[in-house]
Amino acid sequence: MTDRNRRGNDSELNDGSARNVHEIVSPTDELAPISNSEVSSQPIQAKNPFASSAIMIVDDEPTTIEVLTMFLQGEGYERFITTSDPREAMEWLECERPDVLLLDLMMPHIDGLEILERIRHHEHVSHIPVLILTSSTDAETKHRALELGATDFLGKPVDPSELALRLRNTLAAKAYQDRLAFYDALTGLPNRRFFMDQLGRTLLRAQVQSTECALLHIDLDRFQQINDAIGHSVGDALLRGVAERLELSMRPTDYLGIPGVSDEKEPLSRVGGDEFSLLLPGDGALDAATSVARRILASLSEPFHLAGRDVFVTASIGIALFPGDAQNLNALLANADVAMSYAKKRGRNTYQFYDHSLDEASADRLSLETELRGAVERKELRLHYQPKVDIRTGRIMGCEALMRWDHGELGMIPPDQFIPIAEDADLIGEMGEWALRAACQENKRWQDAGLPPISVAVNVSARQFLSDNFVGTVRSALDDSGLEPRYLTIEMTESLIIENPAETSRMLEAIQRMGAKVSIDDFGTGYSSLASLKRFPIDELKIDRSFMQGVPDDQDSAAIVTAIIAFARVLGLFLVAEGVETEEQRAFLAENGCECFQGYLFSRPIPGDELLKLIAASR
Ligand code: C2E
Ligand code: CA
Ligand code: CA
Repeated sequence: MTDRNRRGNDSELNDGSARNVHEIVSPTDELAPISNSEVSSQPIQAKNPFASSAIMIVDDEPTTIEVLTMFLQGEGYERFITTSDPREAMEWLECERPDVLLLDLMMPHIDGLEILERIRHHEHVSHIPVLILTSSTDAETKHRALELGATDFLGKPVDPSELALRLRNTLAAKAYQDRLAFYDALTGLPNRRFFMDQLGRTLLRAQVQSTECALLHIDLDRFQQINDAIGHSVGDALLRGVAERLELSMRPTDYLGIPGVSDEKEPLSRVGGDEFSLLLPGDGALDAATSVARRILASLSEPFHLAGRDVFVTASIGIALFPGDAQNLNALLANADVAMSYAKKRGRNTYQFYDHSLDEASADRLSLETELRGAVERKELRLHYQPKVDIRTGRIMGCEALMRWDHGELGMIPPDQFIPIAEDADLIGEMGEWALRAACQENKRWQDAGLPPISVAVNVSARQFLSDNFVGTVRSALDDSGLEPRYLTIEMTESLIIENPAETSRMLEAIQRMGAKVSIDDFGTGYSSLASLKRFPIDELKIDRSFMQGVPDDQDSAAIVTAIIAFARVLGLFLVAEGVETEEQRAFLAENGCECFQGYLFSRPIPGDELLKLIAASR
């Protein structure tokens, strides 16, 4: 839809109202042919930089309004809100928030001074500049108007060139003030204040016009950690880059919903350090929100090239709809936030629509978080072990320690349900250290009990790995347990390495120097180029379970698995296939030269004493 058409609809709307006192005038062909598409056919003339400023005119004389409007259109102004009924002035001001008000003083019912006074005492419109139109040369009236906060005066009959100058100066001053007050200096995006203001108005309009509106709350994943790792000035550059990509992810059609609001063309704001909000007004908001959310996630999937390195960042997006999910501003904000937290809980880098059931989920999560805080102390964490099996002989070559939370009331909680909470709540360091120490001690006990030595693998999350002194913790877990380092493997994900190449490289080398091993978990999901892994000190790759699911029938999965097997061989890396559930999968791996597997086919993760029995039986 073109700008003009939307205006057209708007006028029709107003025609339907009983008192046709308000009109939004647009440049029509008869008046002044100035629209973007037609500018080129005009004699060459610089576009008025304030062309899109909204100018409101309140004057009881319709002719004055008409003359002023025509003149200002000739000056290149495009947006007008006019009324000849002063009793409606406040309502329209509040709803439209013009950039400037041209206000007549002498009017029936309410005079201009009274309106001015109300404006200056109004929470949301008090900052709007007001140019007083008056034929009064009476010094006392002028004095009174200045006292009440008039910005400037224009004598009636209005001198066009004077009006043009005063208006331009006023708008320039307002634009500068707005920039300081409503925009974020780092990204140039509107700030939280602007956003809240706009949200209020958008909801008001949506209500009046019975349309919808979608609020997207975008929160960068683990930004604090990234910021700490790359340094704050590169962090700032990253935020600017993110803001740019977010803007590019939106298309004009995403925010053409409600007349007037869309003209602001500022649906995206930076509302917090690493938080952005996006408003999509209009019917079909749900679909628009879905496609924008997808485009945003896709736009962030490519790394940012900053200060000579690749920096990766993802986002979690919560979406709430008005009036479907919430009927007022605060509820809408809260619901988008709940949805965003849920997106994080689901593993981040995703979007989530608000749903009433999420309220329960977030309450559940809150109580889980509280309970998780004491879990280490109350000795509620357990390790289960899943054997790594020699694909040909079926002998147990090692095992992986997998954490469980013995909650008592809720039973044994799997890690997918509490590790993300632990990460967000900053508990992962403590819990991870517990797992590391417990795994080393238990493995040493098995050896002391006379079992043939095997290696134990411990999972380490990015947050834990990047925390202070992780290498020192590994060292002390080994020392305290007396386990020989070669019987310990550290499992970490591919993305951790790619996102933090310098730090991880150094730390992995330190771990290898100690004599422990390094394994890349969930391999194949992190989009790293296989070749880039060559540079890293790694001993083992684990093919992600998702690829095994398709093997051997799905050709793509089969091709990826064989490629990874070949790749591991070239680099001399030990290879483990995860999630092997069927004999066909095992046979496929064996045929293609994979050495080792893990999976339900052989055994689920089991408590240590059960593993002991399995080991004894497998020898
Ligand atoms: P992961 O490291 O990829 O662990 C493998 C997961 O696959 C385990 O889930 C395991 O039970 C499951 N699995 C093994 N074989 C099969 C199979 O044949 N079929 C299927 N469908 N699944 C199989 P689990 O124990 O629920 O652990 C989930 C994730 O939680 C782990 O994924 C790991 O990322 C994380 N995790 C577990 N323990 C720890 C820990 O101590 N620290 C940290 N940071 N993360 C942990
Ligand atoms: Ca693992
Ligand atoms: Ca894995």
